[in-house]
Amino acid sequence: PKRASLDIKALAKDLRSGHRAALARAITLVESRRGDHQAAARDLVQALLPDTGKAIRVGITGSPGVGKSTTIDALGVFLIERGHKVAVLAVDPSSARTGGSILGDKTRMARLSASDRAYIRPSPAAGTLGGVAAKTREAMLLCEAAGFDVVLVETVGIGQSETVVCDMTDFFLALMLPGAGDELQGIKKGLVELADMIAINKADGDNIKRANLAAAEYRGALHILTPRSEHWQPPVETYSALTGAGIDTLWRKILEHRTAMNASGEFAERRREQQVKWMWSMLEQRMMARLRADPAIRSKVRKIEAEVADGRIAPALAAEQIADMLA
Ligand code: GDP
Repeated sequence: PKRASLDIKALAKDLRSGHRAALARAITLVESRRGDHQAAARDLVQALLPDTGKAIRVGITGSPGVGKSTTIDALGVFLIERGHKVAVLAVDPSSARTGGSILGDKTRMARLSASDRAYIRPSPAAGTLGGVAAKTREAMLLCEAAGFDVVLVETVGIGQSETVVCDMTDFFLALMLPGAGDELQGIKKGLVELADMIAINKADGDNIKRANLAAAEYRGALHILTPRSEHWQPPVETYSALTGAGIDTLWRKILEHRTAMNASGEFAERRREQQVKWMWSMLEQRMMARLRADPAIRSKVRKIEAEVADGRIAPALAAEQIADMLA
């Protein structure tokens, strides 16, 4: 039996006026796996769509220990002091696999979580990486509708999570440690091709010299790569999340990037592409979900799968047969 239908209109209204409880409820709705909740969540996001899209969306990546939470805490407080409202979301590939989580512990951002101008939401637990990411995207829209004008999306650089976060943000920030060596691996792994800025954290105390050396190495390495945009050469900056030195520069670069992307038209273009890409990725997930959920289809798929394994049906024909079932 269907429960008393959720009052989506009332929820949308409360959320628009910035009620935190409404925002939290809305995100919980988006994260729910229940069919009726998902339908309600779609209506809600659609109703709120005109109020979305206005935030500066920043993706932040880096290995565990690089200082992501310290940085987000420092940057978030810096922004709040300048009148912004900051939402922090996470795409955590470890939560996608195991339900556990590397990120998303609120207490890691002590100062920021104490502010009523900040909203920190851990990564949705479990699901596929794509599913976790889809929920984070919807949560981002809800935060925007609730008046948060900066959204920071955090991820650990594991697997595809960096691409996924890059695809939902306007600016992708890669955090590194002083003492290149290992860190320069990032350049080979293609992370640096995604990054709109490389920021070397912990440039304080005895680390300052090593941080500057690392910065020089990264600059050299970036120099030989073709930047993603002809209007933006990703800068390499050093800073300290602990002392706050250089946090202002990080933000200034993010704003400069925004100005340059607006001027060239790439900002609007990137958002348009992201939206369409998101649609296709949701569609893919829905198709896969149907394959898994419908028992009749599932048993037929298992049979076809076995026949493919035995070499009795060609994979292409099998794919065709399965695709026909979804039609
Ligand atoms: P995360 O795993 O990337 O979120 O990293 P954390 O923010 O938890 O930081 C890991 C460790 O590095 C903690 O012990 C922090 O106190 C320390 N740390 C973070 N930023 C800085 C910094 O700017 N300078 C120094 N010296 N330590 C830092």
